[in-house]
Amino acid sequence: MAIRQIRKLGDSILGKKSREITEMNGRISTLIDDMLETMYEAQGVGLAAPQVGILKRVVVIDVSEEADQPIVLINPVIVETAGEQTGNEGCLSVPGKTGVVTRPNYVKVRAKDRRMQEIELEGTELLARAICHELDHLEGILYVEKVEGDLHDAGKDWEE
Ligand code: ZN
Repeated sequence: MAIRQIRKLGDSILGKKSREITEMNGRISTLIDDMLETMYEAQGVGLAAPQVGILKRVVVIDVSEEADQPIVLINPVIVETAGEQTGNEGCLSVPGKTGVVTRPNYVKVRAKDRRMQEIELEGTELLARAICHELDHLEGILYVEKVEGDLHDAGKDWEE
């Protein structure tokens, strides 16, 4: 495994749409391992492949306190949303900043896991926010485009 360089705001790859993954192979598996390691090293709660310069539809998320519950979503699609939450959000590609974004408070997502098995995942609150944020990356959308008001210096708030 290896830490990959995280692309930052202004890098054109962050504005591009990612492609579906059709089969698991060694290269994708290594990408996923590296994304997890990179996310944990950066103390983020999520990372999408375009953030490490790869335009493929895979995201990793871990919103657990102990950072020991990794979620891998391949070709994820949100199939249901409910409610609303408005709160601070940050992104590893926009270091040191935070801004207020409104997201659904509940999402259900359909995806494949690393064995390319169909899975369904439900999330509320922070997990729902992280899923929406990471899936936006696959469309080339950054949260800064959705911020209500201005970006602020993050201080010690949460990242990504
Ligand atoms: Zn992000």
